[in-house]
Amino acid sequence: MELIKDGIRIDGRKKDELRDIKIEVGVLKRADGSAYVEWGMNKVYVAVYGPRELFPRFLRRSDKAVLQCKYNMASFSVDDRKRPGPDRRSVEISKVTRGALEPVVLTENFPESVINVNIEVVQAEAGTRCAGITAASVALADAGIPMKDLVPSCAAGKVGSEIILDLCKEEDNFGESDLPIAMIPRTGGISLLQMDGLMTAEELEEALNLVKKGCKIIYEKQKEALRKRYKGDDHD
Ligand code: UDP
Repeated sequence: MELIKDGIRIDGRKKDELRDIKIEVGVLKRADGSAYVEWGMNKVYVAVYGPRELFPRFLRRSDKAVLQCKYNMASFSVDDRKRPGPDRRSVEISKVTRGALEPVVLTENFPESVINVNIEVVQAEAGTRCAGITAASVALADAGIPMKDLVPSCAAGKVGSEIILDLCKEEDNFGESDLPIAMIPRTGGISLLQMDGLMTAEELEEALNLVKKGCKIIYEKQKEALRKRYKGDDHD
C-alpha cells in the first residue's frame, strides 16, 4: 500500500497536518468535569470525579491526592469486536495517561483523596491515547481541579521515509513507527513519549518539531473549548 505520494497522504493530508479536531466541555451531567473529543474518526468521552474520599483507606496518601486513570475501549469501537474489560493494552494506556497528566495537577492540595479520570473510547481510528489525554486535561479543568497547565497530546510517525504528524489508521498499521507525545506547553516539558518502531536521531528531532507544532494547535483548541463553556453563561 502506498501511504504517501508526492507529499500527499492516503487521507489527503499534508505531512504536517492534523486530522479535524473538535473539543466540547461539560458534556456529561453526572460527572464533576467532562469533555468529548472528535479527532478524525476517533470519538472519546472523559468523565472526571473528585477530589473525593479514597476507599479503600490504605490507598490514601497523606501528602497528595491519588490520580486514578482508567482508559477503556468500547467493544463496538473497532472493526473487530474488542473483548470487553481491561487488557494489557488498556492497563498500559491508563498508566501512561496518569503519568502524562499528574505533573500538571496540584495533587498536593488534596491529601487523602482521589481524583478519578475515566476515558471511554467509543470509536477508535488510531491515536486514541493522545485524544484521551487531550480530552482528560480539559475535563480536569472543567471539574475545577487546580492545574499548572493543560496537556495537549498528539503523535508523529514515519511512513516510507517521511516523518508525518498525527497518524491515521492505515499509517499506524502499515507505517514504520509511531511516536505518541504529550506536552506541557508552559514549560516546554514532555510528560509522555512512547515509540513503536524505529527512527534515527535526526528523524526523532524532526518528529518532535512536528509534534510541537501540532500540540500548539491542539492547546489553542483546548483553551477555546473551555472559554466557550465558561463564557459568562449559567452552568451547573
Ligand atoms: N485497535 C483495534 N483493536 C484493539 C486495539 C486497537 O482495532 O483491540 C486499533 C484502534 O483503531 C486504535 C489503533 O488500533 O486506535 C492503534 O492502537 P494503539 O495501541 O497504537 O493505540 P492508539 O494509537 O489508539 O493510542
